[in-house]
Amino acid sequence: MNFIGNFQNSEAIQSAISRIPEPILKQISCDWAIGRSPSVLSPYSDHLTRDGRPYSKTAHVLYEFHQDHLPLYKRNVTVVLPLEVGPKTVIHEIAHVIHGLGWWIGFNPVCDYAKTNYMEAFACAFEEFITPGTYDPIRANEWLWFARMAKVGPNEMP
Ligand SMILES: [Zn+2]
Repeated sequence: MNFIGNFQNSEAIQSAISRIPEPILKQISCDWAIGRSPSVLSPYSDHLTRDGRPYSKTAHVLYEFHQDHLPLYKRNVTVVLPLEVGPKTVIHEIAHVIHGLGWWIGFNPVCDYAKTNYMEAFACAFEEFITPGTYDPIRANEWLWFARMAKVGPNEMP
């Protein structure tokens, strides 16, 4: 994992990472853009999320296909944290990194924000799996899916 920018969020990141099961951590790779990082943010920073928040102020993940302003060798899945956030937000963004590995599956929405789209449904459900008690409970079969993924890592999941 490469870190770009300042390290104002390192505590939240470390705290979040310490909660993510090892098999998952071994199989994900991402960069972190923390605080102001114009070279990463510029193409999307003036865009708004569906609920009207500017990406320049909102935690999000840039996949490689969002980085066509960079040469190929510099593209990597990047968690962008423009402002200071807590560990739960970091866990949510890590879920987007996991989700982006290849399969794109939906989960039952555990909160209103999870209804935005299947990517948010996955990320909020993962957040609830790692730190239970914030949202509605995850459905039993989905909890089992996460538990298996936590054991074998996302690359082993169908
Ligand atoms: Zn999200």
